[in-house]
Amino acid sequence: MQADSHHIRKRFSQNFLEDQNVIEKIVDIINPQKSDYIIEIGPGKGALTVPIFKSVDKLNVIEIDKDLTKLLKKNIGDKNLIIHEHDALKFDYSNFKHTNLRLIGNLPYRISTPLLFHLLSYKDMIKNMFFMLQKEVVERICAKSGTKEYGRLSVMLQYYCDAELMLIIKPDAFFPSPKVDSAIVKITPLSEAKYELLNDKSFKIIVREAFSQRRKTIRNSLKTFLNETEIKAAGIDTNVRAENLEIKDFVKLSNLYQKKARDN
Ligand code: SAM
Repeated sequence: MQADSHHIRKRFSQNFLEDQNVIEKIVDIINPQKSDYIIEIGPGKGALTVPIFKSVDKLNVIEIDKDLTKLLKKNIGDKNLIIHEHDALKFDYSNFKHTNLRLIGNLPYRISTPLLFHLLSYKDMIKNMFFMLQKEVVERICAKSGTKEYGRLSVMLQYYCDAELMLIIKPDAFFPSPKVDSAIVKITPLSEAKYELLNDKSFKIIVREAFSQRRKTIRNSLKTFLNETEIKAAGIDTNVRAENLEIKDFVKLSNLYQKKARDN
């Protein structure tokens, strides 16, 4: 779409993709198929929307900025391009009543982590997600135990999904250019969990608390939830930090906490 008079809104993390080569590469990675049920978050001026809409029968987009939804209607106006003028963070994705959703988007970086957590609650309806995020966030999503990038986001995403870094994108592909590198991540919710979890809420609590003070040992960070004897009984060293635990350890700890909460 042409360089128009759209007033760029920083609060909505508006960095628009301009490099046609990069846009083509991203669309190739997404590989849209005619009957796919695709939802694009933050279509902006349509850099990805236009080529993707050419390949599918129908496309849903969620955009918060009224000026941009107007621009999209003017430039692509078509009954099969369904524009939801809404906040993607508050959107109820179950409205789509579909079980094979494909979510894509060059996400607003400011809300990318809370948005990923919001989307996790719809994981059973989602086939896969291809998002552009800050490269550093993608590295955190894909990080392995024992690295400095490994944290709450890594554990929560990797318990429920497979995640893979697909492409790194330099700031000059956008206008205005962001200050950091970006990357495309492919996130695929798992149809079967890796380890049996008794309760999602307990898992969320234990993972959050364990990483709330990264420097603390598990014995200290989890002391209001589990005592030293209980942690040891699960076969976990109480002197390690959260960053050294594997996903299966977090599952064990949260199942212990869940049983304890249920019995009390
Ligand atoms: N997809 C376009 C592109 O690649 O050029 C725009 C990407 S830009 C990084 C992020 C887009 O998300 C903007 O269009 C912005 O207005 C929109 N946005 C920001 N916050 C949003 C929210 N909470 N819900 C929906 N869209 C949002």
